[in-house]
Amino acid sequence: MTTDQIVVVAGGGGFIGGHLTSVLLEEGYAVRAVDIKPVECWQQLHGEAENLVLDLRQPDACSRAVAGAHRVYDLAADMGGMGFIESNKAMCMLSVLISTQLLQAARLNDVERFFFASSACVYAADKQELPDNAGLKESDAYPAMPEDGYGWQKLFCERMCRHFTEDFGLETRVARYHNVYGPDGTWAGGREKAPAAICRKVAEAELSGRHEIEIWGDGQQARSFTYVSDCLTGTQKLMDSDVREPLNIGSSEMVTINELVDVVEDIAGVRLERRYDLSAPLGVRGRNSDNTLIQERLGWEPTINLREGLIPTYAWVRDQVAVTRRRRERLPAFSSNGAATAARRRAASGR
Ligand code: NAD
Repeated sequence: MTTDQIVVVAGGGGFIGGHLTSVLLEEGYAVRAVDIKPVECWQQLHGEAENLVLDLRQPDACSRAVAGAHRVYDLAADMGGMGFIESNKAMCMLSVLISTQLLQAARLNDVERFFFASSACVYAADKQELPDNAGLKESDAYPAMPEDGYGWQKLFCERMCRHFTEDFGLETRVARYHNVYGPDGTWAGGREKAPAAICRKVAEAELSGRHEIEIWGDGQQARSFTYVSDCLTGTQKLMDSDVREPLNIGSSEMVTINELVDVVEDIAGVRLERRYDLSAPLGVRGRNSDNTLIQERLGWEPTINLREGLIPTYAWVRDQVAVTRRRRERLPAFSSNGAATAARRRAASGR
C-alpha cells in the first residue's frame, strides 16, 4: 500500500475514528473520514482529510464513501457506555446495516482490505460472572451468549467479515476492543463510558468544591481499560498482518471501578465521599483481556498503564467541564423565548 492511496475511516467524526484519522494523516495517507454527524459535532475535524457527512446505513452512501479506496476502517456505530447500550438495544443492533452496506460496497469496489471494530461485548455472559476474571480468550465468544443487543450486532458482523473473506475473497481484519478511553472522547450526554464519566464526576467535584461522587453499582465490578494510542497501534499492526481471525485489543490490567476512582482522585488531588447507586446499569461482573493470542500472532500487546493513560484523559475532561461551567455561569437564569434554556441544556449536556 502506498501513501497516495485512499483510506476510508467510517465513523471518522467519533472518538477512535478521529484519532485514527490523525495517525493515518501523519503517516501520509490520503484519508477520507465519513460520519453521519454534522462536521461541527465531530470529536476532531482534520482539515487535511476529505470529510464527508453520509448515513452509512444507505447503500449509495457506502458506494460514495469507498469509491477508489484501498482500505476501509469500519468504526461507525450507534453506541455508548453501559447506560446507553442497556436501554437502546434495537438502535445498537441497527448498526448491522452500516457494516452490511460497507462490506457490500467494499466488495463491489475492489477494496483491498476491510477492518471491523468489534468489542469485548461479544464474549459469553457465563464467562464473566466473577470479578476476578483471569482474561477472556478469543475462543470464549462461543458458544455464543454475548451482551444483548450491542454484543449480538458485533458478533454477527464479525461472522459477516469472515464469510466475505471465505466466499468473496475480501480481506477482513477484526479487533475486539476492550473499553477504549482517552482525550477527545464522549464525556457527557449519556453515551460516555466509565473512564470519561468518572473523570467528569471527579472534575465536577474538584471544581465545585462539593467533594462527593455517585458510583454505579457497588464499585466492585471489574474491567480493563485501553488507552487510545494502544488501541490504534494494535489496530494498525492487525491491519498490516495476515491474521484473519478476531483478536483482542485490550489492556490486561484489570481494576475495579472503585480502583479506577482511586486513580482519578489521586490525579486530581481530591478525596471524595462515595455514594453507590445499586439500581444503575452494571454490565458483567468481571471482564479482562487475555493477550496470549495477540502476543503470539503480532508479538505485541498494549503497554500503557491506567495511571499513564488517565493523566491526559483527566486533564482533557477537566478542561471540558471547566469550559461548560463557565458557559453556564454566563447564561441568564430565565428567558422569554427559551433560547437561554436551550443553551443551558446544551451546556449541561456538554454539547
Ligand atoms: P463513537 O460513538 O465516538 O464513534 C462512532 C461514530 O459512528 C460516531 O461519530 C457516529 O456519529 C458514527 N455513526 C453512527 N451511525 C452512523 C451512520 N449511520 N453513518 C455514519 N456514521 C455513523 O465510538 P468510538 O468509541 O469511537 O468507537 C468506534 C468503534 O469501536 C465502534 O464501532 C464501537 O462499537 C467500537 N468499540 C469501541 C469501544 C470503546 O471503548 N470506545 C469498545 C469496543 C468497540
